[in-house]
Amino acid sequence: MIDVAFIGMGALSLRSAYVLAESGVSHTHKICMYEAKSTPARKILMAGIGGLNLTKDIHTAEFLKGYGEHASFMRTYINEFNSQDLISWVNELGISTFMGAGNKIFPKGLKATPFVRAILRYIASHNIETHYNHIMDDIQRLTNGMYKISFKNGAEIIAKTVIIATGGASYEKLGGNHDVIKLLDRKLGISYTEFQPFNVGVDVAWDNMKNNGEDHGENHGEDMSGKHLKSIALHGGKAGKYIKGDMVITSYGLEGMPIYAINQDIMNKQKVYIDLKADLSEEDIVRKINNISTKNSMSNRIRKGIKLKREAFFLLKQFHKDKLPKDVKEIAHLIKNLPLNHGGLHETNKSISSSGGVNLTELNSNLEVKNYHNLYLGGEMLNWNAITGGYLLTACFSMGDLIARVVIKST
Ligand SMILES: Cc1cc2nc3c(=O)[nH]c(=O)nc-3n(C[C@H](O)[C@H](O)[C@H](O)COP(=O)(O)OP(=O)(O)OC[C@H]3O[C@@H](n4cnc5c(N)ncnc54)[C@H](O)[C@@H]3O)c2cc1C
Repeated sequence: MIDVAFIGMGALSLRSAYVLAESGVSHTHKICMYEAKSTPARKILMAGIGGLNLTKDIHTAEFLKGYGEHASFMRTYINEFNSQDLISWVNELGISTFMGAGNKIFPKGLKATPFVRAILRYIASHNIETHYNHIMDDIQRLTNGMYKISFKNGAEIIAKTVIIATGGASYEKLGGNHDVIKLLDRKLGISYTEFQPFNVGVDVAWDNMKNNGEDHGENHGEDMSGKHLKSIALHGGKAGKYIKGDMVITSYGLEGMPIYAINQDIMNKQKVYIDLKADLSEEDIVRKINNISTKNSMSNRIRKGIKLKREAFFLLKQFHKDKLPKDVKEIAHLIKNLPLNHGGLHETNKSISSSGGVNLTELNSNLEVKNYHNLYLGGEMLNWNAITGGYLLTACFSMGDLIARVVIKST
């Protein structure tokens, strides 16, 4: 019999197992971890390729705002283990950290491998067993209150306490799947909301990606995919957000932080607008265009007057199919309020995270399933979401921290 079984070896489980190891419980109790893939923590490791953004070094109250409508749910966990605690933990593991733009914290060298390796070494040296290539595909509660878990490879275990943290649905090759939440619903009646893409770009049915604007000389038939849009902003949505930042034109649509920050509004089908010239007011635009002789075409007056880049012109033509208005005030308004006509969020499999998952009403504040004593769920498999930039990992580590402390008390 196993005392504590972890299903999934990602962010939540690694922190949780570390805390159990540190407490000494792993020397008196049998603790085993089961991972579907042949290696653990693939999302953390993949994050390290672009630079592992662990957290943000800001005050907890400010940090919690990053969780939007999920801030009150997250408070319990982040208060338990906040960004300062996370930084100290990473440092204790022998990994130094540095602060990038926007108070974002990264491990030195940006890579995740030394961090993940250090945790694995620590838990192995504290008697915690790890089992790879174990895909959980069944779970039952036995009459004695224990859990019987079966794996696709034929293995079966009986465990007293089970911590399931199998993540969201993004990036199947890194472990993302829709199966576990469905299994929990089917076998234990634990309800869920379907996973949907989050922290992902939007699809746009580009009207001739290569030649759009050729007639007007805006992009000269150049393929616009991969082009960066700078000094741009998105605005709209329920709360009337205004998010400045860079975006990229892709073959399927648009990517970039402003899009991720407004994902929730896009999901809720709120109208979103592009400000193509975020560093100028509408009045400035009018004045600058009016400074250019009317002998020029309107396109040329815009280009010369406000130095609108080809990429921005491309969007203007794509999202405003009609002829440009003759009135300069109308043009200025359009440039600041261009409707983002999209086909919805891009694929879940390509998104950094997912929203949806096990409904939060199924759990108590210790993340124990209300109807199933000693069964804990947490991390991205639960129905909350947050923008990328350290918020996701910090949330998962903090939930793992709390679950471990609850389990220690009950052993
Ligand atoms: C490309 C990319 C970059 C990212 N960058 C950042 C970043 O910089 N900062 C940030 O905060 N967040 C980032 N994230 C998000 C972050 O990695 C995740 O939110 C976080 O890892 C989720 O932790 P978790 O413990 O819930 O699940 P995961 O870390 O996803 O771990 C779940 C584990 O469960 C395993 N599993 C799944 N099903 C089963 C099963 N049936 N049986 C057994 N095991 C199973 C999976 O293989 C996986 O190893 C990034 C994600 C991606 C994909």
